[in-house]
Amino acid sequence: VTTDAHRALRRRVRDVVAASGMTPFALCDAWMRGHDPAFTARLAEAGLVGLSWPAELGGRDATHTDRLVVTEELLRVGAPVAAHWIADRQIGPAIMRLGSDRLQREILPGIASGEVTFCLGMSEPESGSDLAKVRTRAVADGDTFRLTGRKIWTSHAHRASHAYVLARTGGGDDPHEGLTELVVDMSSEGVSVRPIRDLAGEHHFNETVFDDVVVPAHHVIGTVGGGWAQVTEQLAFERGGMERVLSTYPLLARLIDDEGGDATGDPADTAAIGELVARLHTLRAMAFGVASAMAAGEAPVRQAAMLKHLGTTFEGDVVEAARDRFGGSPAPGAAGLEGLLAGGIVSTPGSTLRGGATEVLLSIIGKAELPPAGRSRPADPRGDVRSLADDVLAGRDRQDDPAADDTLWPLVAGLGWPGVGVPESAGGSGGDIADLAEIVTSLAAHGHAAPVAETALVGRALAAAGRTSDPTAPATLAVDEPCRAGPDGRITGRLGGVPWARSAAHLLVRVDGPSGPSLALVATAAEGVTRTPGANLAGEPRDAVVLDGVIAETVGDADAVARVRRELAVLQCAAIVGAAESAVASAREHVRVREQFGRPLAAFQAVAHTVARMAADLQAARTAVADAVAAAGDETDDGHRAVAARVVTARTATAVARQAHQLLGAMGITHEHDLHVSTLRLWSWRDEHGSARSLARELGRAALAAGEPAVWDWITHDTDRLGTTTAWRAS
Ligand SMILES: Cc1cc2nc3c(=O)[nH]c(=O)nc-3n(C[C@H](O)[C@H](O)[C@H](O)COP(=O)(O)OP(=O)(O)OC[C@H]3O[C@@H](n4cnc5c(N)ncnc54)[C@H](O)[C@@H]3O)c2cc1C
Repeated sequence: VTTDAHRALRRRVRDVVAASGMTPFALCDAWMRGHDPAFTARLAEAGLVGLSWPAELGGRDATHTDRLVVTEELLRVGAPVAAHWIADRQIGPAIMRLGSDRLQREILPGIASGEVTFCLGMSEPESGSDLAKVRTRAVADGDTFRLTGRKIWTSHAHRASHAYVLARTGGGDDPHEGLTELVVDMSSEGVSVRPIRDLAGEHHFNETVFDDVVVPAHHVIGTVGGGWAQVTEQLAFERGGMERVLSTYPLLARLIDDEGGDATGDPADTAAIGELVARLHTLRAMAFGVASAMAAGEAPVRQAAMLKHLGTTFEGDVVEAARDRFGGSPAPGAAGLEGLLAGGIVSTPGSTLRGGATEVLLSIIGKAELPPAGRSRPADPRGDVRSLADDVLAGRDRQDDPAADDTLWPLVAGLGWPGVGVPESAGGSGGDIADLAEIVTSLAAHGHAAPVAETALVGRALAAAGRTSDPTAPATLAVDEPCRAGPDGRITGRLGGVPWARSAAHLLVRVDGPSGPSLALVATAAEGVTRTPGANLAGEPRDAVVLDGVIAETVGDADAVARVRRELAVLQCAAIVGAAESAVASAREHVRVREQFGRPLAAFQAVAHTVARMAADLQAARTAVADAVAAAGDETDDGHRAVAARVVTARTATAVARQAHQLLGAMGITHEHDLHVSTLRLWSWRDEHGSARSLARELGRAALAAGEPAVWDWITHDTDRLGTTTAWRAS
C-alpha cells in the first residue's frame, strides 16, 4: 500500500538528496561507510530524522512504515547516513519505549536535530556472538554509575556524541541477568577511542575503553538488570530494516542502468537481474511486514532474523551478479560499475556478521521452529477460509494416483470451492482471489489434487465477461501458448500439459489474432478436440490437447488474457506454498523423532539451521504470494508482482525440496514416506506455465528496458508501473 503521505516523504528525501550535491548510486554500504554530519543536518532540517517519536520530543509522530519509506529511499541512492543511523534506527526508539521522561527530553530532540549521534557499545574482545558474556561493568555510586570496560568494533565511536553501552550491573550464575543498558556521553572523562582500520583500509571500527566513567543514573534505559530482555527486543529494530537488504543496491541499480540500453543482452545476465529484482520485491514486502509489526507495538524478532538472513544473502548475490557482468578484477576507486563492485566485494563479508551473525540468526529461527517439549511453535498465518479448508481436509485419505481420487471432486464441488472467487450472481460461491488462494494452499498442503483453481479461474473469466458458469462441472485453461484463429473464426492449436483436460467440460484458451490476444471458450466435447492423457512428475493429470478447426466463443480481450494469466500464476504460487509447508512440516517432525548419535537430530545445530533456512524460504514464499494476491486485486498492477512471486516461490520450491530430502535421509526418498507427495509437486509446479528461468528472464528484460527508477517504483509499489509490455500486463 502506498499512501499519499509516503509519496510526499519520498519526494522530501529526493529533494534533500538533490540539494545536498551528493552523487547518487556512488557508494555501496553507505549507511556504514558514508559518514557526513552535514548531510545528516540537512535531513534533520527537513524533518526526516527521528520520525517515529512524538513531536514534543523533536520527532514527527510518524509510523514505522513512514520511517521505512524514508530509509529505503536514502539507502537506494547510497546516501551518507552513517552519522545518525544508529540513533535514529534503534537507540532513539529504545529510549522512547523504555527511557525515563528526563532521558527522553535530554536525548531525543538532539537525535532528531542531528546533533546527538550514537555508537553502539555491545561487542567486547571476549564477547561477540555470545553477547550475554559482556564484562564491562557499571557499579552504582549514589545517583551515578561508574563504568569500566572495553568495547570493540564500535563503528564511528570516534565521531559519535554518545554511546549506547551494554554493561554488567549485577552478578549471578545466569549471564543473562544483571545486564543494564546505559547512555554514555562520549565527551566524559575516562572515555578513550583507538582506531581499527577495516580490510579496505577505512576507519569506522574502534576499540572504545571506559575507565571509571561517571554515568548519571537517569541514563539507564529501562530497568537496571533487565537489559537482556530489552536488548533482544531491540535487535528486531537493528535487524529488521532495509539496510539489511539494500547495502549493495547502488550496484544493482548500476547493473540495471548500464545494461538498460541493450535489453537483448546475454540471457544469463538478464535472468540473473530478473531473479534479483523478484527477490528484492519480496524482501521489501517482508521489511514492510516487520515495520508494520513494530508499528503495532510488537518486537518481531524472528521475522527480523529471517529478513536479515535472506537480505544479506541477497546483498552478496548482487555482488556476484555484478562480478559475472564485469568479468575482471575491479580496481578500488574506479568509476561506475567497477568501483562500486570493488566496494561491494570488500563490504559484504561484514553484512552477514554485524547485527548478529547469520548462524546466530539461524539458531534463533531454529529454536522457534523446533521448540523444546512443552513449548509450541509460533502459529503459522491462517486466514478463515484456510482454517475451514484445513478442517475439511485434515485426516482425509489420499489416493496414490491423484487422477483416481473420485471422491474428492464431489466433496469440494459440494462445498462450492470451485466457485470461490466467482460472484454468486455468476453462479459462483462469492469471495475473492485471496479466498481462492487459501483453498488452493490448503489442498496442496494436504497433498490433494483437483481442478479447483482451474475451474474457478474459468468461472472468474466468464463472470468478467458477464456470463455465468457451473462450478460443479470441472473446467480448465491453457493460456501459456496461443492458439490461432482461422478466417472462419475456428481455432487451431496444440496445447501441452493442460491440467485435468480429460475431465474438463470446458477449456479456456488464448487466441492470438491480428487484433491481439483474446480469450476463447471451447467445449471439450466439440468436434475437432482431441485429448491425450499425460501426467507431471507428481502424477497429476497434465494432458495434451489438439484443437483442429474448433468452434469457440470469444469471452475476453487482451486484458482478460493478461488477468487470467496473472491469476493463474498467483494460484500456482499459493499451491507451492502449501506443498512447501507440508515438506517443512515433514522435516520438522522427522528431526524431532529420529535419533542418531544418541540424540534427536533436532539437537544438532547443523540440522536446526537447515530447518531454519527452510522456514525463512517458506516465509519468503508466503510473503510473495500475499503480495501477488494483493496485486491481483489492484487494477493498476501490470503483472510483474505475479511474475516476481513465481520466481521467488520457484526458488523456495527448489530449496525446500532439496533440504527436506537431505534431512529425511533415505527414508524420504521412499514411496512409503509422504514427503514425495509434496516434493514431486514442488518440482512440477515450479516450472509449469513457464519455467522459473524464463520468467526471471522476462522480468529481467522488463527491468532492463524500464530502467532503475521505474524498477524502484515497482519495488516500493509507488506507481505500480514498470512501463513496458509483457503478456502479463493488462493494458
Ligand atoms: C561491519 C561491522 C560493524 C560492526 N559494528 C559494531 C558496532 O558498532 N558495535 C558493536 O558492538 N559491534 C559491532 N560489530 C560487531 C558484531 O556485532 C560482531 O561481529 C558479531 O556480533 C559477531 O561477533 P564476532 O565478530 O566476535 O564473531 P564470533 O562471535 O567470534 O563468531 C565467529 C563465527 O562463529 C560463528 N558462531 C559463533 N557462535 C556460534 C554458535 N553458537 N553457533 C554457530 N556458529 C557460531 C559466527 O556465526 C561466526 O560465523 C560490527 C561488526 C561488523 C562486521
